[in-house]
Amino acid sequence: MASPAHTGTARRLGVPLALARPVAAAARLVSRATGREGGALPGKVLLSLAPSALATMARRGRARGRRIVLVSATNGKTTMTAMLAEMLAADGLDVVHNVTGANLRSGIATTMLQAGRRGDVCVLETDEATLPLVAPDLRPDMIVLGNLFRDQLDRFGELEVLADRWRDTLAALPGEDVTVVYNADDPLIAELVEEHVTRCAADGIVATVVPFGLDDPDVAQEGLPHAADSRFCRRCGHPLEYAHSWVGHLGAWTCPGCGMTRPEPVVAATSVELDGLAATRLQVEVPGEPEALQLRLPIPGLYNVYNAVGAIAAASTLGVPGAVLVPALAAAAPAFGRFERIPVPGPNGTNGTITLLLVKNPTGLNEVIRTLVASGVDVTATLFALNDGIADGRDTSWIWDADVEPLFERAGAMVVTGERAAEFGLRAAYGGLDPEGVLYEPDLEQAMYRVLERAREFTEHGHAYALVTYTAMLKMRAIIAAQGWARSYWANEPTTRRRRGSRR
Ligand SMILES: [Zn+2]
Repeated sequence: MASPAHTGTARRLGVPLALARPVAAAARLVSRATGREGGALPGKVLLSLAPSALATMARRGRARGRRIVLVSATNGKTTMTAMLAEMLAADGLDVVHNVTGANLRSGIATTMLQAGRRGDVCVLETDEATLPLVAPDLRPDMIVLGNLFRDQLDRFGELEVLADRWRDTLAALPGEDVTVVYNADDPLIAELVEEHVTRCAADGIVATVVPFGLDDPDVAQEGLPHAADSRFCRRCGHPLEYAHSWVGHLGAWTCPGCGMTRPEPVVAATSVELDGLAATRLQVEVPGEPEALQLRLPIPGLYNVYNAVGAIAAASTLGVPGAVLVPALAAAAPAFGRFERIPVPGPNGTNGTITLLLVKNPTGLNEVIRTLVASGVDVTATLFALNDGIADGRDTSWIWDADVEPLFERAGAMVVTGERAAEFGLRAAYGGLDPEGVLYEPDLEQAMYRVLERAREFTEHGHAYALVTYTAMLKMRAIIAAQGWARSYWANEPTTRRRRGSRR
């Protein structure tokens, strides 16, 4: 009976989920006790013991009526996922939602493991390269595709390869079961979704797709920036033309070569008012709502408008009414490290703040700078931390593609830190920043104190701004927690939330 073939099968299938679960739960305790934030370890242990655990947990949840939504994008997926989770929870659903950063296969497994049997819906932020790896197991009810920008090329290869893998991901899912909510303003995504629709039609299936986008020419950018990643038609190679572009290559595009054109967004922001760093007002057309929704987002930046519109498109498709989602979004806090403003006590009762701004690719950096400049805040005390860890992207050459000059002009000087501080210093020198204005401080903690000192000395309100890559942000956040300025982040970002949840 026990032929070698059988033994092989048993090994591959691993131990039953019921046995693997307690071991993985123990791993979670160990990972917390040792202060390792992120939460990937229990999922990693679970998947090594029971490789099919993800599919099993998804199937069992589905049998109880639990839905799964996967949210992926190069930029903004953390914010978009948090907004969607917030709106669904406000509508009375028991929402399972993964911790910031735990968006790989192991992190998603951890989240589902911790949720156990509970949850009406799993809203899972999913890394772009991970989406094709988890979607076949999870069999999501909805996929939200936000954008594809150049990011960490050394890890992913070309953008087009990623788009091809997303295309294959959709092709491998049953077309009648999955709703695709997607950014129509991104030509790479629109093209692959259009193909999904065509393929389903050939099989006699009407695919459910919900395009979202922007429709306010007043906030468009003048021409495509240097960092625009997708300038050519995927179908025929002809350069795309834009009536308007809003963020990077996201815009109202058309191809003069083959006639492919941006699908009309079904959910669209028709009026956007950027109110400095404090807030953004927008009007969003949503099908089924008697009139356009009027929203106030407590976070800045046009790219966050995309996050909000994408999250609204997903939430309204899942049945959340405007009357519920508007107040839920108004209460949304900035996601971890995204315009997160942290109060910093100073000497003699003075108080300042440090605002953390995650940057990881040219488009993201451009948008952060554009938002800072447009808001007119005093950027005299600004820090840039450039690391080249795996999570940052080993290749830091993207800083040469970003339009950093407007910040240099206004800042006059910058505290420069991180493993690749010298490279950013060089970029600053080429960008016209006076070499005397490049204040090198290799130690991240000292650099932070230095920029806060600068804020106290040279600005009216003591506000400092820190533009940091991912691993630098984790370190900075740990320093902030150690100083008691803010709690360690897993402590205030629960993986699961209930209505009027325990958040904040
Ligand atoms: Zn074309």
